[in-house]
Amino acid sequence: MNRIAIYPGTFDPFTNGHLDIVTRVRDLFDRVVVAVTNNPSKTPLFTTEERVALIRESVSAFPSVEVDAFEGLLVDYAKQKSAKVILRGLRAVSDFEYELQMALMNRWLNAGIETFFMAPNAEHSFLSSGLVKEVASYGGDVHKLVPECVGAALTGKISKSSG
Ligand code: ADP
Repeated sequence: MNRIAIYPGTFDPFTNGHLDIVTRVRDLFDRVVVAVTNNPSKTPLFTTEERVALIRESVSAFPSVEVDAFEGLLVDYAKQKSAKVILRGLRAVSDFEYELQMALMNRWLNAGIETFFMAPNAEHSFLSSGLVKEVASYGGDVHKLVPECVGAALTGKISKSSG
């Protein structure tokens, strides 16, 4: 049986917290698809293509991990990919309400797909893409919080927008 899981998110940008989750699950499934989407409530700093490229580079050592982008309903995309599992990260209680609502809505839309919640290493539990962007925009050093290619891309974006 081919066990496929989708790890969906905005990933604007991909952080070491996201990488932590991918690293934990990569051997538990035959294939893990990191799927970039546009969350309409967020205005992304990186284009979808840029986010996909940065994630590809960050997970290039993991042969079971694929990176893709999608639009529309996640459950429809999961079905198209023959995935029975959606992976989401849970950092703190603050994530829980929204994640539970989404998981229950997705189950209502397609009862054949389960959501698995993953806890990152405690050292990544404070990390969010939003915070990384905010700190970087004020010149803070975020290189230890994101993959190397993401750090370089953030520096590039920020120096472009400030000059
Ligand atoms: P979304 O807009 O879908 O929430 P994000 O890129 O913010 O997209 O997050 C994608 C998934 O990764 C979510 O399940 C989120 O809870 C999880 N996540 C984000 N940051 C971390 C982290 N530091 N550690 C573990 N999981 C995380």
